[in-house]
Amino acid sequence: MSKKISFVVPIYNEVDAFDDFYRKMLAPELAKLKYDYELILVDDGSKDGSLELVQGIAEADKRVKVLRFSRNFGKEVALTAGMREAVGDAIMTMDADGQQPPELIPKFIEKWEQGAEIVIGVRGRFEKHGLVAKIGSKMFYKILGAMGVKDTVPGSTDFRLIDRCVADEYNRLTEHGRITRGLMDWMGFRKEYIDYVYGNRLAGKPSYNFKKLFGLAIDSFISLSTTPLLVFGVIGLFITFASLVLGIFVIIEQFMLGDPIGLKWTGPTCLSIFVAFLVGLVLISQAVSALYISHIHAETQGRPLYIIDRKQSRNLHEGKAPKTTTK
Ligand code: UDP
Ligand code: MG
Repeated sequence: MSKKISFVVPIYNEVDAFDDFYRKMLAPELAKLKYDYELILVDDGSKDGSLELVQGIAEADKRVKVLRFSRNFGKEVALTAGMREAVGDAIMTMDADGQQPPELIPKFIEKWEQGAEIVIGVRGRFEKHGLVAKIGSKMFYKILGAMGVKDTVPGSTDFRLIDRCVADEYNRLTEHGRITRGLMDWMGFRKEYIDYVYGNRLAGKPSYNFKKLFGLAIDSFISLSTTPLLVFGVIGLFITFASLVLGIFVIIEQFMLGDPIGLKWTGPTCLSIFVAFLVGLVLISQAVSALYISHIHAETQGRPLYIIDRKQSRNLHEGKAPKTTTK
């Protein structure tokens, strides 16, 4: 049986951009592929006619599948939904606005054929960015690195190809506040990188503004690490340790040796040291209970991740997508 590649494209209000992108850029590349393929278009609750456009494409070509969300759930969830629907031996994700060049698809596939399990598109290192974006993304990776997530190459994007085995593992993750690339980097597997230049949008406006990106960054910090909680625990440890040492010093110096250095510790000073000691203990116990809460939080979020509008979707596998196919 010949291998199949699934392409997953999240679409939110992209009627103008996607029309151009599909006809002029993506379809010609797909036509050249030596593999069988499917194109999964995830409509993330668009309100601008994108749905009708993609439904039209799916009517004409059975390899094109449309998954329609009942409302806007966000790109990260759309990518997840598309990957769960995909049946290919490899799955490639890309944006709908033409900023990620489909001419590179053969390069991604080539790396996969050579054994890479995740092929990641890295935004051109010499691109011009706005100052805020530059500093913001630098800080993001710095903090991520400081929190122990070292495996993220700056500039990594969702323009990537993953092997079926990675997808199977990824599909078992159920957390909600997710950022696809962060979770995948956390998963490991054999990675390869391809540099590309992020083009201009074909039409429309980016829907990720500063507020959304900031929220996404917070989400990934929280979901990938418990370090923020531990910071306060460490501060507590430090305070407890320092006040303990100081307290012992006071007891020995003043009360046992009779204040040979002449420091004349007063009652309020001793009390302050004791209070500092207690504050340290409180911070430590807070960090410990916060850790428990974070675990409970992770375990209890049992809500469905998204709701699919089945009437509006097209050519789905209706949950019959195979769990594993060997490469
Ligand atoms: N997108 C989505 N849901 C959203 C926002 C965006 O599916 O809520 C899609 C969008 O249609 C595009 C991709 O995610 O295909 C990237 O979005 P955008 O171009 O706005 O982001 P940027 O280029 O700034 O990363
Ligand atoms: Mg874009």
